Amino acid sequence: MLKKFLTVAIDTPLDTVFDYRWTQTATASLIPQVGQFVRVPFGRREITGLVLKVQDSSEVDDDKLRDVIELRHHITPLSSQWIALCQFAAEYYQRPIGEVALPGVPKHVREAKPASIERALKKIRTKSSDTDGVPVSADVDNSIQAPALNDEQRAAVAAITGSAGFASHLLFGVTGSGKTEVYLHAAHAVLQQAQVMGERAQILLLVPEINLTPQLEHHVRARFPRATVATLHSQLSEGERLRHWLSAHEGHAEIVLGTRLAVLASLPHLKLIVIDEEHDPSYKQQEGLRYSARDLGVWRARQLNIPVVLGSATPSVESWYHASSGRYRRLDLTQRAIAQASLPRIGLIDMERHKAPDGLSPPLMDALRERLAQGEQSLLFLNRRGYAPVIHCDACGWISHCRRCTAFMVLHKPERRLRCHHCSLELRIPTSCPTCGNVDLQPLGRGTQRVEEYLHTLFPTARLLRIDADSTRRKGSAQQAFEAVHRGEVDILLGTQMVAKGHDFQRLTLVGAINPDTALFSPDYRAGERLFAQLMQVAGRAGRAAMANGRQSEVLLQTRYPQHPLYRALQAHDYTGFATATLEERQTAGLPPFIFQALLRAEAKTLDTALSFLQSARDLMPHQDIRINEPVPMTITRVAGMERAQLLLESPSRTQLHAFLKPWMQTLRATKTRARWSLEVDPIDI
Ligand SMILES: [Zn+2]
Ligand SMILES: [Zn+2]
Repeated sequence: MLKKFLTVAIDTPLDTVFDYRWTQTATASLIPQVGQFVRVPFGRREITGLVLKVQDSSEVDDDKLRDVIELRHHITPLSSQWIALCQFAAEYYQRPIGEVALPGVPKHVREAKPASIERALKKIRTKSSDTDGVPVSADVDNSIQAPALNDEQRAAVAAITGSAGFASHLLFGVTGSGKTEVYLHAAHAVLQQAQVMGERAQILLLVPEINLTPQLEHHVRARFPRATVATLHSQLSEGERLRHWLSAHEGHAEIVLGTRLAVLASLPHLKLIVIDEEHDPSYKQQEGLRYSARDLGVWRARQLNIPVVLGSATPSVESWYHASSGRYRRLDLTQRAIAQASLPRIGLIDMERHKAPDGLSPPLMDALRERLAQGEQSLLFLNRRGYAPVIHCDACGWISHCRRCTAFMVLHKPERRLRCHHCSLELRIPTSCPTCGNVDLQPLGRGTQRVEEYLHTLFPTARLLRIDADSTRRKGSAQQAFEAVHRGEVDILLGTQMVAKGHDFQRLTLVGAINPDTALFSPDYRAGERLFAQLMQVAGRAGRAAMANGRQSEVLLQTRYPQHPLYRALQAHDYTGFATATLEERQTAGLPPFIFQALLRAEAKTLDTALSFLQSARDLMPHQDIRINEPVPMTITRVAGMERAQLLLESPSRTQLHAFLKPWMQTLRATKTRARWSLEVDPIDI
């Protein structure tokens, strides 16, 4: 009787893998394979695991081994390359392999629902047999005419597709310079090359936000009508997820479009990776496996020896640094692809000189009025949702603190609620001061709802639309809202960073930033970089067609610091100068990318428990080569009743940092504590 020993990854916080015994029986004649799913006993449960190794012996004593219940052979086993990717991510981010490999796999595959899998596979196969024998890549020329590229775009496509093997390209181009066209032409060329060679190819296209997928998907489908396009993001239903995941995994989908989680998709014929808006913080997962999809994308391209393209108008300073050091190849797009469009003029409104009791200064109001008269669209950007960040009592000084967090309860007027944005606690708005009974409670500061209310009184006949996390809670509502703007049904669009990304509004000629200053003096060293990117991006929404009526589109920033170097660089559209200055500052201050960091966070009922856990972690092992800072409470110390603290580890050598982290984490896992803790490698919020 044939006997094998399987090493299996299981989705559990225990950082280990498990050996099981498999014995061939008359009814189950298939031999186990690496990359296959198996049903195994685990404690008293029965669960699904992934086979990492198949061997003829095990280091575990035979009487301690349990038997595999069933091999799952409904889908092609996952490739060894995919397993290596998960193994790398697990080691790099210090998480168990099972927590990396299994959660991304659709529930129906993990739980082995053969009927659903068969149904999905049948659908996928029927779809792709329609196109058998028809060259997918020929469609670009046959159907929708691809726009002609300018010289810079053509050079970029040639550099991407002409590189033999692995190369990281940083595609640096202002908004409207036609980065998407470069991606699509490169994708086309890669699919065509593969076809000539008689090979199969898959392209992975990552975008930072779900809201951007419908637009890009529409674009891709129109340009590659015969190609199979799969989308992967967190809002798919289980059925959709199964179909799209299988289509990618079985190699049917030529183009896979998705948010950060798609970087871990199984893609057996992957030939090109594109990461659009590579600077976007959404590429960083902030819980569980705290990975950077951008960094994993680059690693994956190196592993497969294929090109990767990172695109942005405002690259992350890390990527800029890699481009300056030659690790990435920089490809510049300096011209806007649409001939008439030019860069918007960026004006600063000095708020020391202009009064704005309701948030809008007279010059900004005048500019809005002018656009309304011309029948053009305006966009107002305010990165704070709700009506007012806090309400207070003038009589006694009471202020709406959240009782569970070191944060304020935000006034949401249309919903008639106070909401904590950190723990989601909701309360009715008090009719009088809880402390002194004063009935005249006042909102302090302003969010999007309050500006919307004021705009209604200011321009009663204008068509206003607010887009933020509150106005787009229903599935599909964000897309509907953006479509209304595209159809010209909106005169003034008001929103948070949600409106800053990716959407091109043809009739938009004015962008106003109401209060960008809040980010200037943040303790977070990345705040300036983010603000620059956000403002550049929101400015980029203006005026693809502004020149049609002979006028330059305009961006107006309300600020108390018009001399600030960040605004000066922005005014000059000078990302390069900004990035160079930022990198110099980081080097002087000893910050990434000149240093490598890991952050240990702890939370507990008392701050003392959290801090003393971190202190003991600090003293756990000798660490000559690693700098471990003092444990400190986090900026927002209490969230949902838990006190939070953190410990920052730094080293100029990534290798040394990781050599320290591995044994340190093993010891930490064995430590008894009442604190809940987690480690983040390359943290972005410190
Ligand atoms: Zn009071
Ligand atoms: Zn709270």
